[in-house]
This record gives sequence, structure tokens and C-alpha cells, in this order.
Amino acid sequence: MSRTVLRGATLMSGRVADVAIDSTTQKIEIIGVVDPKPLDVIEDCTDMVVFPSAVEPHAHLDKVLLCESGQNIKNPSGDLEGAISAMRNVTLSPRDVYRRAKAAVLEMVGNGTTLIRTHVDVRSGVGISSIYPLIELKNWLRDEQIAELQIACLLGSPIAGVNGREHRRLLSRAIDVGIDVVGGCPYLDEDPRSALEVLMDASFDAGLPMDLHTDETLDQRTLTITDLIEAVDKRGVGSGIAASHCVSLSMQEYEIQTSVAIKLAELGISVIVLPQTNLFLQARNISSAAPRGIAPIKLLGEFGVKVAAGSDNARDPFCSMGRMDMFETASLLVMAAHLRPDQAWYSCSGGGREVLGYPDQGVEVGAQADLVLVDGANFASAIAKGSAKRTVIHKGRITSRTSVEREYF
Ligand SMILES: [Zn+2]
Repeated sequence: MSRTVLRGATLMSGRVADVAIDSTTQKIEIIGVVDPKPLDVIEDCTDMVVFPSAVEPHAHLDKVLLCESGQNIKNPSGDLEGAISAMRNVTLSPRDVYRRAKAAVLEMVGNGTTLIRTHVDVRSGVGISSIYPLIELKNWLRDEQIAELQIACLLGSPIAGVNGREHRRLLSRAIDVGIDVVGGCPYLDEDPRSALEVLMDASFDAGLPMDLHTDETLDQRTLTITDLIEAVDKRGVGSGIAASHCVSLSMQEYEIQTSVAIKLAELGISVIVLPQTNLFLQARNISSAAPRGIAPIKLLGEFGVKVAAGSDNARDPFCSMGRMDMFETASLLVMAAHLRPDQAWYSCSGGGREVLGYPDQGVEVGAQADLVLVDGANFASAIAKGSAKRTVIHKGRITSRTSVEREYF
């Protein structure tokens, strides 16, 4: 039986300890002083803080890195409409999707992410063609024990009525070929409630979770999350349902936000908050007192709603920035949503695990060893610094180590 021993790591509490991981059970065996055994693999973790690994609950791996793909893709207005129209001129071949998605996932893994949910466009013109390379990538990541990937269908609009027939057909094909999660943008439909019913029926019939692009608008009148609450309330099952973005909730009065939060908590509907892309896309035409477009994650958490945060788009027409790094998202949550650093990291790790249907596991004896060690003096400063010096562990195995050498002259 061999072990990996993380020697002298700084815990989130500030205590310095060794962490022994049993390679067979893939679990943390000891946190404290570890007496080395002959077969132990020793990893020097001096001046490194050990975190539970990151979770990316909302990526778009079919579109990721399009800004670097060599195709002439521009979004001069920088808003959502500009991004959608830029995508009309883009060809997404399965090989290209695989190449960009794999490059992005390896960046994510190197930065400490071991569980990812990606959305994939399923719409007329594209069909279901981008699902296949993502399934191939998912299988490769699982076989190599590098990370776990969930694939959520992002169904094009319209979904409801006669005009939605083609998309409804594509949704059932997507389910047949093996997507993990049903999703779409009912708020873009002519008949949002019927579109929502179509997605819910499909998710219930297939026994799959559902994750919606609930809304991405600062328009207070588009509060689609109340349609979702009503529909879930009627059916009586909310677990496995996630509402992503929820931008218009950020624009509501406190009383409305709290009444929505109470119902979300009661029904078990999760919210995935996406600061990076919503800061990029929203409020472009507002020069004075611009809203941030971030769903009220602090308030939702205080009312017991299951919340997670993700990066959404990265280096594509929907967001030209993005480091595939949940430490960047955590930093944004501290800066732009005023979470404490521990709340911010929970939203980027344990919260994501729960929302994606996995047990929340911290750095504790008996937990599966999914960890990231980052250079830093303490927990908060490691998030603030966001050093590239990291060691990543998935299922008890070191999957990535990045060292940094800086020289001054
Ligand atoms: Zn998205």
C-alpha cells in the first residue's frame, strides 16, 4: 500500500500539517504529523495552502478559446446580442471543438479544477454535432483519472409551439446520445412557460437533472425564475434543478429577492452565479452607476439556497477574458459580490459539488482526496495572490504540478 504525503501544507485554519493520502482508497488518511514509510511519495508543500479542489459548474467548452482559433470572430459591441450574432459566422467542426475543449480543460485542471459541467449548443444549423467530441473528452478524462465532466444540452430557441418542433427533435436526439443534463433558455422563447414545460418534461422523462440559462438581462420585468419556481412547485420536485445566471434577480427590490430566495431554498432549486461573463456582457450602455449583473449570491446563501459560482465563457465572443481559474472567480466574488474569502471558495468548490449532485468533501480525514495546493501565506492571501504555483490531486493522485520561476535583474 503506497501513500502520497503532502509535507508541511498550510490548512485553511492556518495550522501547518502533513496530509497523508492512501493511494488505494484515494482518501485522506491522516492530517497531522505523518511518520514516513518506505514506499511513501513525499510532496514538499512548504508555504502552500491546501484547498478542496475547484468545481467549474458552468462552462461552454464548445465555444471556449474561439478568440484564439484563427477564425475571424469579433464582438465589437461586447454585449450578448453582439456575441450571438458573432457566432452566426462561426463553424464548429467536431475536431475543432475537441481540440479547444481539451486545451481549456487542461488549463482548468492545472489551475485546480477536478469537476466540470459544460453546456453545449444544440440548435438548428449545428444539430447535435458538438456533443460527440465532448463525450469523447469526458471518457478520456475519466479513463485517465484527470477530471470528471458533465455535459448539459443548451437547446436553441424557439422550443415551444410549431416553430420549436426542430429543437424539440434535437433535444430528444441529444438525450439519446448521452447528455447528462437538460437545459436551454426559456426566457428567449415566444412562450417562455411552455418552453420551460418542454424542458422539464424531457428532464423528468429521461431522469436527468436540468440546468437553465434562466435569464441574462437587466430588465426587471423578465424575472423568469418565478416561472421556474411556479412550475417546480406544481410538480413538487426541485432537487437536480439549477438556475444559471439569474441576472434580472440582481435588479429586484430586496423584498422580491428574499421571497424568491425563500421559495428556492424550500424547493431545493440551486442557483449558479457567473460573475465573470455577466460583468463582461451586462450594462455596456450604462455609463452612470452601472449595475454589476451578478445574481445576489450573498443574499441567496443567507436564505439557505444552494449556490455555486462558475466562469461561464472564456476567451470567446461572449467573454474575451478568462483564465480557466476558479481562484479568479473566487476573487471576483469577494470583490464584486462581497462574499468572505471562505464563502467565495465554498461557492467555487463544495457548493459546486453539491449543485452538480456530488457529496461536498473538504480537507478532512476520510474525504476523497480531490485537492489543490497553492502558493500563499494563508487561505485568503492565496486566493488574492492567485499564484500559478499549484499542485492538483484528483482521486488521490497528483495530476498536475506547476512551478514558477521568477527572476529579477
Ligand atoms: Zn452560459
